[in-house]
Amino acid sequence: MLGSKKKYIVNGNSGIKAQIQFADQKQEFNKRPTKIGRRSLSRSISQSSTDSYSSAASYTDSSDDETSPRDKQQKNSKGSSDFCVKNIKQAEFGRREIEIAEQEMPALMALRKRAQGEKPLAGAKIVGCTHITAQTAVLMETLGALGAQCRWAACNIYSTLNEVAAALAESGFPVFAWKGESEDDFWWCIDRCVNVEGWQPNMILDDGGDLTHWIYKKYPNMFKKIKGIVEESVTGVHRLYQLSKAGKLCVPAMNVNDSVTKQKFDNLYCCRESILDGLKRTTDMMFGGKQVVVCGYGEVGKGCCAALKAMGSIVYVTEIDPICALQACMDGFRLVKLNEVIRQVDIVITCTGNKNVVTREHLDRMKNSCIVCNMGHSNTEIDVASLRTPELTWERVRSQVDHVIWPDGKRIVLLAEGRLLNLSCSTVPTFVLSITATTQALALIELYNAPEGRYKQDVYLLPKKMDEYVASLHLPTFDAHLTELTDEQAKYLGLNKNGPFKPNYYRCLGFPRNQGHLGSDELPALELVFTSPTTYAYMNSEK
Ligand code: NAD
Repeated sequence: MLGSKKKYIVNGNSGIKAQIQFADQKQEFNKRPTKIGRRSLSRSISQSSTDSYSSAASYTDSSDDETSPRDKQQKNSKGSSDFCVKNIKQAEFGRREIEIAEQEMPALMALRKRAQGEKPLAGAKIVGCTHITAQTAVLMETLGALGAQCRWAACNIYSTLNEVAAALAESGFPVFAWKGESEDDFWWCIDRCVNVEGWQPNMILDDGGDLTHWIYKKYPNMFKKIKGIVEESVTGVHRLYQLSKAGKLCVPAMNVNDSVTKQKFDNLYCCRESILDGLKRTTDMMFGGKQVVVCGYGEVGKGCCAALKAMGSIVYVTEIDPICALQACMDGFRLVKLNEVIRQVDIVITCTGNKNVVTREHLDRMKNSCIVCNMGHSNTEIDVASLRTPELTWERVRSQVDHVIWPDGKRIVLLAEGRLLNLSCSTVPTFVLSITATTQALALIELYNAPEGRYKQDVYLLPKKMDEYVASLHLPTFDAHLTELTDEQAKYLGLNKNGPFKPNYYRCLGFPRNQGHLGSDELPALELVFTSPTTYAYMNSEK
C-alpha cells in the first residue's frame, strides 16, 4: 500500500538496520533516547527542546560535500570569516527563502519599519539558539534592524537550512550551524557564539534551554551582564522554572511558550493546517468518508477535527473533560470511548498531552491498515514500546512510515514512530511562526529596556498588552478593522480604551506554573500591565 516493502527494522537510534530481530530488544528500545521530530536528536543528544517547530525544507542538496564545515576556510563577500556554515556559496538560494518567509511574517516587517527612527535594541548583544530556518532569519534580521547585534547557533542538529545559514553569514551575522551536526559540533557551535573575544552577550534567546545551560555551566560570570532570557519551548521553560524554584535563576526570563498568542495560534491553527499535510505526505490517503478518531478535544484536537471534518471525514472524539467533551458534541462530533470505535476507524490521532492513550490492547484490536499517529505530546501518547515484541514485524515503508505486522497478516501504519506527526512529516505555516517570532522580539525589547528591578530573577509571562500588540500587528494582513471602545463603553467595562482587553490570566495555560512570581492579589488585575517605558512608547508609536 505504501511504496516498496523492503524489510527494515528501526534500530535503537535514528537510523535503520536491516533484519534485526526484536526477541531480546524490548528493554533496549525502552532505554533509547526520546526522539521528537526534526529537533529530536538535539533533545536526545543535548536533552534539549522538542516543543516548538521548524518548517525547514531544503532545496539545495549539499550532502555530497562531506567536509566538516569546521575544517573549511570560508569568507563572506565582505571578507568576514566569523561564521561556520556548510557552504557560503549557497547564500543566494537562502536569500530567496528568506524573501518568501518575509511575505508571511508581516508583524516583523512592521517592527522593522517602525525601527527606522528609534532602535529599541540599540546596544543589545543577543546570543541565540533556535532552529535556523528562513523564519528565524527574518527574526534575526529584524532584531538587527532594531539595533541588536546577534550571534546564533542551531538548537537542533538536523533543522538548519544550510542555504539560509549561508545567507545570514553573507549578510554579516555570525552564524554557527549546519544540517547534520554531531553532538560535538552542536556544543562547539554554541560555544563559538558565546566565547568571543571582545564581545559579550547581554540577552539570550533560547529554544530548548541548551544555550542557557551552556552559559550556566561554562561561563556563569556572563550572567552579571545578561539582562534577561527569552525562552520559547516547553522544555526550556520547564528548566527555567526549575532553576527559579531552586533559587538559581540569576536573571529575569520571559516564558514565550505560554503566552496566549503562542498557545492560541500554534496549537489550534498550526495543527489545523498541518494535520492533513502530515497525513498526506506520509500515506497519500484520501480523507473523504474515512472514519477518524481524535483523542483529546483541546486546542490541538479542535484543529485536527476541524480540518478532517472539512475534508469529509467522519470524526469521532474521545475526551476525559466534560467541558471539552460538550464542546465536541456541540461542534457536531460523536463523543465515544476509544474502545467503542477502535475496530472500525481508519485513522487514530492522539492530541491529549497525556501518556499511553493508545495502548497495545487498542493496537491489537485495530483493523487492517489503520493509520496511527500523534499530534499531542512528545512520543508518549501511543505505547509504541509495546509494539517492540518478537511476534510483530516492523517494515519501514517510507521515511517516517512503518508497517507493524501481526502474525495473522494484519498491519497498522504507524507514523513518525509515535512522535509529533506535523513536526516530523510536514511543514508548519510561516504565519503562525511569525506570531511566535514577534512575541520573542517583543519579549527581548521588554526585558532589554525594563528599568532595573522591574523584573526579578524569575520567570515571567509577556504582559497581556504585548500579546494583544502581537495580534494587532498581524491584523492588517486580513484587512481587518478593529472596533474601538467608546469612552462610555470603556468605563462600563472598567477597561483602558487601548487595552489590555483581557485579564492577565485569560486563556493562559502556563499560568498555574507562574504563580511563584505573581502574588495572588495580582491575579484579578485588569488594569494596564506594566511594560517598560521604551517598549510602551515603541508599541504606541504611530510610525
Ligand atoms: P489541551 O490541554 O487544550 O487539550 C488536551 C485535551 O486532552 C484536554 O481537553 C484533556 O481533557 C484531553 N485528555 C487528556 N487525557 C485524555 C485521554 N486519556 N483521553 C482523551 N482525552 C484526554 O492541550 P492542547 O493545546 O490541545 O495540546 C495538546 C498537546 O499537543 C500538548 O502536549 C501540546 O504540547 C501539544 N502540541 C502539539 C502541537 C503540534 O504542532 N503538534 C502544537 C501545540 C501543542
